[in-house]
Amino acid sequence: MNRIIFATGNAGKMREIRMILDDLGMEILSMKEAGINIDIDENGATYEENALIKARAVAGFARECIILADDSGLEVDYLNREPGVYSARYLGEDTPYSVKNANLISRLEGVPEEKRTARFVCAIAAVLPGGREMTVRATIEGRIGYEEKGEGGFGYDPIFYVPELNKTTAELTGEEKNLVSHRGKALRLMKEELKKNEGINCQ
Ligand code: IMP
Repeated sequence: MNRIIFATGNAGKMREIRMILDDLGMEILSMKEAGINIDIDENGATYEENALIKARAVAGFARECIILADDSGLEVDYLNREPGVYSARYLGEDTPYSVKNANLISRLEGVPEEKRTARFVCAIAAVLPGGREMTVRATIEGRIGYEEKGEGGFGYDPIFYVPELNKTTAELTGEEKNLVSHRGKALRLMKEELKKNEGINCQ
């Protein structure tokens, strides 16, 4: 069976990824499950660069598999698209999201509804056996709320309000979020790209 290794250590992301890529009929392993334990320095200037950095690093250990990696972030228009590629490192990697979210809300104090626009962005990179590389990108548009809402999701979800759904992404179930999210859409785009490459031989 063809194998995909997804360059992440995040169990939540692996659940989403398995759900969406299930019908490819391939075995999908996390880095850990593939026995790859490396620290990768995400020092790229774009989501695509960071995703490629991760995918190439893992490909160095498993040249015969399809390697996928993602990079994502939150862009707040009023803050010149901050925190962007620094979303995970914003105010410090180990700072709780309750603090990061409160900080973003306070930086938008007095900013009216129509100027609170924001988006989540996700780029996914693939390195195929043989070395071919591909990237895809997808977004979900929303607005930064005035307080945290919802218990689901992670990270900035409680302050990311989706006007069409009248909910934050933390108020959606996993399945609902997958249907509309940046990562869900990017994974489905990548799935289509991988289907075009049928016949990749990766045991
Ligand atoms: P990475 O793609 O794992 O490097 O994560 C980037 C960071 O962007 C995460 O740590 C979160 O802070 C933020 N982020 C990316 N996607 C989401 C999401 O779906 N919900 C909430 N925060 C997200």
